[in-house]
This record gives sequence, C-alpha cells and structure tokens, in this order.
Amino acid sequence: MDESTQTPMKGAVRDAISEQIKHEFYSAYLYLSMAGSFGVANLPGFASWMRKQSEEEREHAMKFFDFLLDRGEHVQLQAIDQPPYAFRSPLDTFEQALEHEKEITSRIHGLYDLSVQEKDYPAQVLLNWFVVEQVEEEKSATEIVERLRMAGENSTALLLLDKEMGER
Ligand code: MG
Repeated sequence: MDESTQTPMKGAVRDAISEQIKHEFYSAYLYLSMAGSFGVANLPGFASWMRKQSEEEREHAMKFFDFLLDRGEHVQLQAIDQPPYAFRSPLDTFEQALEHEKEITSRIHGLYDLSVQEKDYPAQVLLNWFVVEQVEEEKSATEIVERLRMAGENSTALLLLDKEMGER
C-alpha cells in the first residue's frame, strides 16, 4: 500500500489498542458463555441480560477497531481466549463478571496513561468515553451482585430478579 498521508500513530498506542480489541471481544465471549449458562439454568431474564451485555462488548471492540481504521492503521486481530463455561450460581456468575470489569477498567486506565505519555490526543478523547463507560459497567454489575446476595437462597426473590433482568 502507498504511504499513509495521515499523521502516523505511535506503534505502542496502536499495539495496545489492538490488544484491547481482543479483550473487548473476550468480554463479549465471556458474557455469551454466561448467557448460555443462564439459559441452561432456566433463567431467561439473566440469559437475555447477558446476551445484550455480550452485544455491547462487541460494540466496544468495534469502536476501537474503527478508531484504528480511521487513523489509517491496518488492524491485526489477535486470537481470543476460551472463556469459562461452568458457573456455580447466578451470584458466582455476576461476581466473576464484576471482577472481569474491574480488570477491564484497569486496562483502560493503562491505555489512557500510555496515550498521555505518547501525546496521542485522539486516543485520549476516545478513551475518555471508555473511562466513563467502565464506571457504569462496574456500577451495574455491583448492583446485581448486591441484589443476588440479598436474594440468597430465596427462589421467589431470584425469579423476580430474573423477570426484572429480562426487561433490560
Ligand atoms: Mg467493554
């Protein structure tokens, strides 16, 4: 291909964003796996919530993908890890989802630090969106974990929660 006419990206930022595309797709994969597990457990509301969450993660990956394309970068996609597929309970599932989101938050912050260090201003603007999004992700996962803890072993409470989750 011809030489790019755009301001070139720093390789470190480009590579870190490529890596993040993989993590966002992994998130989509993880939540799809969780949706499957809820489906098998006859909790259609939780399953539907997780399916939507999975779709949102795919959109996150695409935001980064399109950002690299807009900057004139060729995107080299990486292999996605296999997610777990067996979960002990709805609470265990959401505790794992919350832990995963905390890990993603720290990756986003690391990316932000790198984009500041490399003076990549467009990347900082993009990452601002993700910084705010991660606050929302941790908040919603935390809320569900708390409510599942309240429900405890009460199956009526669990079924009510399932119904509500299906309304997302
Ligand atoms: Mg995400």
